Amino acid sequence: CHPLYAAMPTTVFEHMSGLAREAGAINLGQGFPDDPPPAALAEAAARALRERSQQYPPMAGLPELRDAIAAFYRRRQGLDLTREHVIVTSGATEAVAAAILATIQPGDEVLVLAPAYDAYAPLVRRAGGVPVFVPLAPPAWALPLAALRAAITPRTRALIFNDPLNPTGTVASPAECAALANLCVEADLLAICDEVWEMVRFDAPAHRSLMAEPGMADRTIKIGSAGKIFGATGWKVGWIVADPALATVVGRAHQFLTFTTPPMLQWALAEGLADDAMMDRQVRAWAASRAVLNEGLAQAGFAVLPNVATWFSCVDLARSGIELDDMTFAERAVREAGVATIPLSALWEGPDAPRQIVRLCHCKPAAMLEEAVRRLADFH
Ligand code: GLN
Repeated sequence: CHPLYAAMPTTVFEHMSGLAREAGAINLGQGFPDDPPPAALAEAAARALRERSQQYPPMAGLPELRDAIAAFYRRRQGLDLTREHVIVTSGATEAVAAAILATIQPGDEVLVLAPAYDAYAPLVRRAGGVPVFVPLAPPAWALPLAALRAAITPRTRALIFNDPLNPTGTVASPAECAALANLCVEADLLAICDEVWEMVRFDAPAHRSLMAEPGMADRTIKIGSAGKIFGATGWKVGWIVADPALATVVGRAHQFLTFTTPPMLQWALAEGLADDAMMDRQVRAWAASRAVLNEGLAQAGFAVLPNVATWFSCVDLARSGIELDDMTFAERAVREAGVATIPLSALWEGPDAPRQIVRLCHCKPAAMLEEAVRRLADFH
């Protein structure tokens, strides 16, 4: 196959969703809810489609949405922000790309905690940078501070930090965030913070951004996602929040990636982000779906790892009495049991990847989750 394929592999999410479509399987692989997003949000988008301009919005985003994002973070996370801190992007993956392309120079090293969302490393490499993986250790996935410190060299430019963490559904503790911020300040690192799961937290205290730590305000690029907050993954509206000078630089990369984002979605989100009750209802629904999946799996004899955030639950296959490695399990479960999952090793580079953990998406109707558990139990 073409040598460039190795640098840009097919993402595991597309691979598993493709297999799920082929097999007609229940898709608990790629993360997305089955229920439609809030009706008031859809109505706001429809209204904006009828009544507002459908031409290019400003490159940095509609001022009304940038204001709404700044106000949302002031209210919910105590961050001191204005619209000048905000650039709206076409999804959080574009935000990650724009942040990396804007800041990483050829030869720069970038610390990446494993497991990691599979967009980070290929983008760092395409920017000419070198991803340096530092593994978290299951089952607690504690922050490996000593290893991070040891991985820093004079070429280390940035750290990519995903909190809450996909795929594990765990969150960093306040002490871990404080220590990580110290490390960034000491080593003069930029922090690219993928916080798309910030609102999807269950038994965890309210999200606190690394940006809120002392010394971090002007060295953090914080990334958010409307798809995750409202359960509308296909909308592909994300944003970056950073010190205005840094935000402007990221905007320069964004202008050559997508330039802008559909206006009706931006208008709708400007309304939605002012509606705390709407956002909190979503989280309660996902807390219930997490309970259905975790309890169902546990009753069927699966070892579910502790998770307090995101749409994901992880199962330890070895501790569930299954001897298959995660990739073999995922490929067989989708075809033979009709349930798609994500093998954790696909989100982990390096020899030390755990090969016995699969991720399942829980933000689905209870009946679908119960049927998926029945099928997996029979397969098991
Ligand atoms: N973030 C999603 C997940 O983890 C996948 C996004 C995508 O497929 N581009 O499932």
